[in-house]
Amino acid sequence: MSCGAFPRDHFPVRRRKRSVPTELTLPRHLPEFPIRIAPPDLTPWEKGNIGIDGVIERDSGRVGPEITIVSLIHGNEFAGAIALDQILREDIRPLCGVVRFVFANLESFHRFDGQSPTASRFTGEDLNRVWSTERLARRPASPEMARAQALLPVIRRSDMLLDLHSMLWDSSPLLISPQTERSTALAGALSACSDTPFLTLTDLGHVGGARLIEEAHFLSPERGARSVLLEAGQHWAPETVETSRNAIRYFIDNAARFHFDACFPHPTMPQQAVVTDNVVAHSACFRFETPYRGGQTIADAGTVIATDGQDEICTPYDGCILIMPNLCVRRGQLAVRLARHL
Ligand SMILES: [Zn+2]
Repeated sequence: MSCGAFPRDHFPVRRRKRSVPTELTLPRHLPEFPIRIAPPDLTPWEKGNIGIDGVIERDSGRVGPEITIVSLIHGNEFAGAIALDQILREDIRPLCGVVRFVFANLESFHRFDGQSPTASRFTGEDLNRVWSTERLARRPASPEMARAQALLPVIRRSDMLLDLHSMLWDSSPLLISPQTERSTALAGALSACSDTPFLTLTDLGHVGGARLIEEAHFLSPERGARSVLLEAGQHWAPETVETSRNAIRYFIDNAARFHFDACFPHPTMPQQAVVTDNVVAHSACFRFETPYRGGQTIADAGTVIATDGQDEICTPYDGCILIMPNLCVRRGQLAVRLARHL
């Protein structure tokens, strides 16, 4: 499936191949991803300090914004948790207001196994697809739903939230925000924490369910709360810890400015883009033309980037950015998102 958020003023993303070669459906396996970082020892934080497991509060004692930094929404993405652990051990606090650190899916994290590193993403269901008001109101049917409900009071107290993630396939870091002006602005401001500003994206959401950054609290016009998701790099690369750590420090150090100063961010955000198409693999034969890297830009409209059974997948416009291509996609899975600069 491919759905567009823009008027179709561009090439079709999917077109039937002119000649159809016979293709075999070969079993494909994920390559081995090296685990270059060790899971952190989170023992000191597991009980938390405000009555909710894995939630640590640091209060400056001065009036200011309440900010939340979440790690381990996915149990095998522990680069962000390493960075949070370091910041907690250094007892870094905001100048004003409150910061809460969350280790979200500890149950799945404890099941991490370097021999099967993708298996501990979640236990019962994806914790980043359960945040719709309707789902949250139901009786929990999985450990993740129960955890989401336990964390909800913390989430709904947040003036600003940073959700730390990482990616399986190699990709430049990027920030994703809901389509509200205030969250887009926060993403733009946070992108400046790096020498090379991160790509900041708004997207089409996930058909599988609402993400944490889309919880109603952050979309409500009355509350004015903001949320941003950071995809900091490859899951198990030391650079991803560094990127996460820099973003956390920048967020904590500048939280009051972000909250109170109407003048941020800088008026030009050249790295801002919007996802126009989610490309889902229709067949088991989906193949990219080359092992693209996430964040790579394809110059020309109409470039064939992949084949999917009898279809060719083409870039719909010049300067098309490939977001998180899944180089080993299965039928029915999201293969790549296509984005263009605003
Ligand atoms: Zn994730």
